[in-house]
Amino acid sequence: MSHVFPRHTKSDLPFAVKGQGAYLYDHKGKQYLDASGGAAVSCLGHGDADVIAAIKAQADALAYAHTSFFTSHPAEELADKLVAAAPGDLDRVYLVSGGSEAVEAALKLARQYFIEIDQPERHRFVARRQSYHGNTLGALATGGNAWRREPFAPLMVQTSHIAPCYEYRGLVSGETQYDYGQRVANELEEELLRLGPETVIGFVVEPVVGATLGAVPAVNGYFKRIREICDRYGVLLILDEVMCGMGRTGTLFAHAFDGITADIVTIAKGLGAGYQPIGAMMCTSRIYDAIADGSGFFQHGHTYVGHPMACAAANVVMDKLIKCDLVQRCSTMGTSLQDALVQTFGQHSNIGDIRGRGLFIGLELVADRETKQPFAPDLAIHKLIKRQAFENGLACYPMGGTLDGKIGDHILLAPPFILEPEHIDEIVEKLSQTLKQVLGK
Ligand code: PLP
Repeated sequence: MSHVFPRHTKSDLPFAVKGQGAYLYDHKGKQYLDASGGAAVSCLGHGDADVIAAIKAQADALAYAHTSFFTSHPAEELADKLVAAAPGDLDRVYLVSGGSEAVEAALKLARQYFIEIDQPERHRFVARRQSYHGNTLGALATGGNAWRREPFAPLMVQTSHIAPCYEYRGLVSGETQYDYGQRVANELEEELLRLGPETVIGFVVEPVVGATLGAVPAVNGYFKRIREICDRYGVLLILDEVMCGMGRTGTLFAHAFDGITADIVTIAKGLGAGYQPIGAMMCTSRIYDAIADGSGFFQHGHTYVGHPMACAAANVVMDKLIKCDLVQRCSTMGTSLQDALVQTFGQHSNIGDIRGRGLFIGLELVADRETKQPFAPDLAIHKLIKRQAFENGLACYPMGGTLDGKIGDHILLAPPFILEPEHIDEIVEKLSQTLKQVLGK
């Protein structure tokens, strides 16, 4: 009997024993094309010799030193690289061990900032429905996914939710894309006025929505309007790039595409590329200085903050993303993959929408393409597809709850940036085979 506590307690999972390039192998030698990079993590693919060598060298030199006593060269180097690459004036970096930790740090930093500048009445957040920001209680509170939230709702910090910018289902007939974006962005202003803007700390949002909607970018102009509203009411704009950041959407920081600046940004997943658990929260000097000039102490912390081995791995990941043009490659291969998907599934009667940016691509599954009617939730189509695709040697990331957290299905693809044209063919072929087996077409 396995004593590991699996997520699905009734599941019977194979043992993963090896990873090489775009492939994973189980204990029976079966090969799986990693078409989702786990959960949009493995941007470099598996078995990268340079990252592994950096981890080994760092382990030999120094595995760990607590950040209340020391800083370290790998942590300083990583912070320098992130600051140099980030848009706007995000020039302070808080290094943690994953996405939820990064979001928790962001929420607490934002709250503490307002205490330091003597606005303690700011105590709540606004976020969006159909969003996911992590599973710890603060991060879960900001996430708007109904299914994930409901059991834990009584334990959560105060957050209210507005509509996401979700063109496929939100745009009404006769409305331009731009007008739609302005309309949903204006919901933020309405919500702030309803709550009393002087009580709101920040607006938490993913520049490109990942797990809950399946790679949904905002329409042109949406984020500019969001930025204006935040500025007008003194609300911090907190961008969660845990999934869509680190080059995944074709720019190192996803929000660079939207031409806006953030007050706080969270990153994780691709930063360690799966080689080490690492995340980061970045903030502007304005926020940092308020604390530095005030109490002088960020009232937060974890044992593994700034872990040297994790930072050493992330330094090589960053070098590869930037110096080896992997971000550019992600953009180019993303266009090729999306074109191939549109060519094969563009007219499929159960695929309503194919969307995304870079190698962050979603396919929305529908019972009826004309009416956009979703599948009945008890069919759990996304689960059937995930299982069958895995059986066929394709690891992809189908999820449910696209419409309201409970209804609606999509498939998320987020393969490594080292993707080759033959991998694109294999993804399309195995997905096609899977849909035929599950849907009969
Ligand atoms: N934020 C976003 C946008 C995510 O997609 C996730 C995870 O999927 C998280 C936060 C939480 O990250 P982690 O699972 O590393 O805690």
